[in-house]
Amino acid sequence: YGDYNQKIDYVFKIVLIGDSAVGKSQLLARFARNEFSVESKATIGVEFQTKTLVIDNKTVKAQIWDTAGQERYRAVTSAYYRGAVGAMLVYDMTKRQSFDHMTRWLEELRGHADKNIVIMLIGNKSDLGSLRAVPTEDAEEFAQRESLFFMETSALEATNVETAFLTILTEIYRIIS
Ligand code: GDP
Ligand code: MG
Repeated sequence: YGDYNQKIDYVFKIVLIGDSAVGKSQLLARFARNEFSVESKATIGVEFQTKTLVIDNKTVKAQIWDTAGQERYRAVTSAYYRGAVGAMLVYDMTKRQSFDHMTRWLEELRGHADKNIVIMLIGNKSDLGSLRAVPTEDAEEFAQRESLFFMETSALEATNVETAFLTILTEIYRIIS
């Protein structure tokens, strides 16, 4: 019963958004359970997973919400965004369209979320570098223009996944504490 009695100092809700099949669920599986599955099923029903970690000697529970196959424009409801202090906007770096849609997702997010929400742009599937359709510079430029953090990740190879979540959680902590 390792952390049964653990005192939680903060609970941070983070939402994952972006087109279907960009790897949102696998990023979450990698971060929360260090798992990856090639045949990941479309998520059914709104779900979240938690992971507890220590930042600056405080116990922080990250509650990370994953969309439920509602990735069509405007299908994600306001309940999903409610109370979120962080958001990860995920695209697939091998699918240009998923990056072009980031503008819409950002608009949706800004329409629903708290104005102080910390947002990170994630270019996932960096292991498929030879199929890259989104240059790093394009994403950097977009992130800079919109004041977003930015990172390229691979849920498959576990590259930058932990770093991305730690970065957003630390930034949220910095703002809130
Ligand atoms: P979601 O719809 O955004 O939740 O996407 P999923 O997490 O279900 O992933 C969609 C597909 O992409 C699945 O076949 C995953 O195995 C695959 N996938 C997810 N992340 C990666 C990655 O980092 N690299 C590669 N090569 N495939 C990935
Ligand atoms: Mg999913």
